Amino acid sequence: MEELKLTSWTGQARTVVGVGPLRVGAGFTVIAGPCSVENELQLMTIARAVKDAGADALRGGAFKPRTSPYSFQGLGLKALKILEKARQETGLPIVTEVLDPRDVSWVSEFVDVLQIGARNMQNFSLLKEVGKGYRPVLLKRGMYSTLEEWLNSAEYILSAGNPNVILCERGIRTFEVYTRNTLDLSAVPAIRELSHLPIIVDPTHGTGRASLIESMALAAAAAGADGLIIEVHHNPKEALSDQAQALLPDAFSVLVHKVRSVRTCWEGLS
Ligand code: PEP
Ligand code: MN
Repeated sequence: MEELKLTSWTGQARTVVGVGPLRVGAGFTVIAGPCSVENELQLMTIARAVKDAGADALRGGAFKPRTSPYSFQGLGLKALKILEKARQETGLPIVTEVLDPRDVSWVSEFVDVLQIGARNMQNFSLLKEVGKGYRPVLLKRGMYSTLEEWLNSAEYILSAGNPNVILCERGIRTFEVYTRNTLDLSAVPAIRELSHLPIIVDPTHGTGRASLIESMALAAAAAGADGLIIEVHHNPKEALSDQAQALLPDAFSVLVHKVRSVRTCWEGLS
């Protein structure tokens, strides 16, 4: 890879992103929650369950980037108000995706971390807008993007003035169709070699299959990831988006327990 003098690359101490009391990049951060916020009862049920299971932050989509315009698009403002309520009750910081540069400023008033989804990794106006903002950014890898392209996208945010970027590997498109994407876990040590930014892994979108998530989460921890983002739903069959890949709260709880053991082992060995 060409030697580039970019601020997201190595050459400085590892970045730790503060999200309220959380320190992403120091320790292991588990973010969990539904793909979409569907209603207050659904979100509160899941928020309590992931909190009990040991999650550090709550995710939930208010604006959904759906392949079809006829699929559920998210509840928007209503979802943000529900997420705020969940933070009040559980104390968990909130992560939600923004799709449109015009939403960055007002959505920042409701949530703690702005997620840039895979489909928007090279939406440069959106990157510049979150870069001008004050909220930490969770930048997912584009499904067709190289590590160099991904780091250049991070650079858009950093160079606009926001140093708080968390990278997220969520799988890339390959010829394999059994899994929704191919989770590129080699990205974890590669990014640690190339960049000082924290990197977390999304085994949910990375596999698209609930049965594969725990194994890939453990592998991510063993590879040195700084955390995970995982979709959890108390009734996946009724979920309005991403049904096949949501973990039940009990399965999530087992996963968190195992993943924290692997992390402890990894810290002992490295
Ligand atoms: C999501 O997190 O729900 C999502 C849409 O993820 P991605 O951008 O990785 O597809
Ligand atoms: Mn999803």
